[in-house]
Amino acid sequence: MLTKDNKDTSKYNVNNIEEIKKASPKVAGLIAKEYERQLNNIELIASENYCSEAVLAACGSCLSWKYAEGYPYNRTSGNLGRYYGGTEFVDELEEYCCDQWRKVFNTDYHVNVQPHSGSQANFSAYAALLEPGDTVLSMSLDNGGHLTHGSSVNFSGKLYDIHFYDVNEDGIIDMPMVREKARELKPKLILAGASAYARVLDFQEFANIAKEVGAYFMVDMAHIAGLIAAGEHNSPFGYADVITTTTHKTLRGPRGGLIFAKPELAKKIDSKVFPYAQGGPLEHIIAGKAICAEEAQTEEYKQYIKQVVKNSKAFAKAFLDLGYKVVTGGTDNHLFMVDLREKKFSGRILQERLDENQITLNKNCVPGDPRSPKETSGIRVGTAPMTTRGYVESDFVKVAQKIDEIIKELDQEFA
Ligand code: PLP
Repeated sequence: MLTKDNKDTSKYNVNNIEEIKKASPKVAGLIAKEYERQLNNIELIASENYCSEAVLAACGSCLSWKYAEGYPYNRTSGNLGRYYGGTEFVDELEEYCCDQWRKVFNTDYHVNVQPHSGSQANFSAYAALLEPGDTVLSMSLDNGGHLTHGSSVNFSGKLYDIHFYDVNEDGIIDMPMVREKARELKPKLILAGASAYARVLDFQEFANIAKEVGAYFMVDMAHIAGLIAAGEHNSPFGYADVITTTTHKTLRGPRGGLIFAKPELAKKIDSKVFPYAQGGPLEHIIAGKAICAEEAQTEEYKQYIKQVVKNSKAFAKAFLDLGYKVVTGGTDNHLFMVDLREKKFSGRILQERLDENQITLNKNCVPGDPRSPKETSGIRVGTAPMTTRGYVESDFVKVAQKIDEIIKELDQEFA
């Protein structure tokens, strides 16, 4: 088995489990089991990571008790400040957090660190830029976009008039199609960013197209934010009007969202986070986000992200060498998808069989997928979590070989 090895599986101080046990043995037992699962399994979910113990501690700190609706005074002109007393320390913390994020991305954009999640960041960003019914051009879920990029089951698909651009036959975003559709539709907003796209995004070209048709340009960098922070992917700052992200994927921080905006959009963005979409900010998570931002500026983090990308390329090559089809033929970032359209079993069946073998990943539609999103004809893998655990290229080659063995078993079963 590949599951137990010499990689770092004893990183966190879990003594607090003892406290939880006193209050609820049931909850403590489930947390302990999940902790074991996370450390013993090979975790390949591209949107997950293991944050530092410092981030974890901040997220469990007394800041969780504090109400602080509103924003620190003097943040934007006309800002009414906080709606509660006793906020002097959380005010300082929130300003510090914003400053640190500006440093991470070397930008003077306005920052809002209050969104509780990536989806809520997108909700507020759209609300700041659009009216219901406005036209948006984005990437569809089946081509690698996110639910909040206009899926019909999501608020985005229900509130706005969403149109999609596609990938070409090589799985690469079809930029001529983006331009053509933008000229035809004259959208109010063009969105770049994805959950399952392995290649570099051409922010400059997207921005040119948006300018040409008079649209806002927004980037959802949730997946690649860590790569951008470390200089391993080009930056959308300077090109996009608004940039959203999560902090828990390649950024390796707490679960949560951030919004960056050109300074002239600051007031609109802030008012669409609070009071429009949210109440009290999660100051304990904001503390975790501040620590995450400090960590993202270290040399250790830059080396980590370099290794994430090297591992991803080696992992994709291992699948190619084993005869598999990788969507786009490889990867430039931390993730890629293996195309299983020719198989007699679905991505769901493989995901479940891998779970039984302590390998965690997710089924994923591939471009042109004939199967439903519940079944899918692909798997998505990412290297960020296992790189945090110390995996290098040769470890990922072994994981690809193990997945290949399991696929061969399924080939026989479904022959
Ligand atoms: N945007 C993108 C590109 C994502 O991949 C995700 C989550 O996977 C989100 C937004 C939403 O983040 P959250 O799960 O925090 O709502």
